[in-house]
Amino acid sequence: MGDINLKDIIQGTDFHFNKALGQNFISDTNLLDAIVADSGITEDDTVVEIGTGGGTLTRSIAKVAKKVFSFEVDRNLEPVLALSLQGLDNVEVIFRDVLRMKDAQFEEIVAGDFKVIANLPYYITTPLIMRFLESDLKAKSLTVMVQKEVADRIAAKPNTPDYSAITLAVEMVGGAKITRSVNRKMFFPSPNVDSAVVRIDIDRTKLDGEDAHLIHKLVRSAFLMRRKTLANNLAQAFCITKAEATEKIVAAGFDGMVRGEVLSLDDYIKLSHEF
Ligand code: SAM
Repeated sequence: MGDINLKDIIQGTDFHFNKALGQNFISDTNLLDAIVADSGITEDDTVVEIGTGGGTLTRSIAKVAKKVFSFEVDRNLEPVLALSLQGLDNVEVIFRDVLRMKDAQFEEIVAGDFKVIANLPYYITTPLIMRFLESDLKAKSLTVMVQKEVADRIAAKPNTPDYSAITLAVEMVGGAKITRSVNRKMFFPSPNVDSAVVRIDIDRTKLDGEDAHLIHKLVRSAFLMRRKTLANNLAQAFCITKAEATEKIVAAGFDGMVRGEVLSLDDYIKLSHEF
């Protein structure tokens, strides 16, 4: 499968970039192949791509994966994709808005488990990631290009400025690492932020035997107001007094004045046992 020249293909059609849909494309085959390598997929994997764009990442995925289901909301890309994906028999492009699809509709198309690889449209990065983490869809991993700041938050360590509710939401169902930084100049048109690729490996057994719902609530509450102590935030979210919240925090083995951003996932699990 030879390389294509996406810019030439686009020029030959009447496709116009839609900024509101986060249309910043990548055409560097080395970078695209490297992102696919970061994901660790093999010829046994079914891959879901969100945002086909011009189909360049799709082509790199198709070189390795068994099957690619690529979702794209913008039908104006149809003539571009007809050329850029010509002859690839393991690729299916679905012109749908993934966020508006119910789990059952998604599973009608993608049966069984799958891995996600995507250069995500930035305006919906967090809801898209949360969808695959929190729904019952059988995603085994997500290798996604996101804004650099979001990548830093996802892969942050406790007690750092980037550590936040999304760090813990990811940790509850898996582990994340940043695999590469990507300069804004690698995209066309070029966005006004730099990017990074994050790989999240999903392990849904991590909270087995624990009250996952309660742990989610504790984490969300802990980060409600970053400048407040954990006791203050928990008192507010659980409708208890600050003294009661402090008592539970101390019983779990922590300082009564501790802030939520200092605790790890294991600490939140310990704390949940006091509620
Ligand atoms: N994969 C291509 C690449 O790497 O060059 C395109 C990436 S571009 C950052 C994101 C793509 O997602 C755009 O083509 C955009 O139209 C599409 N998109 C935006 N919102 C979407 C949604 N809700 N569902 C599916 N695709 C969407």
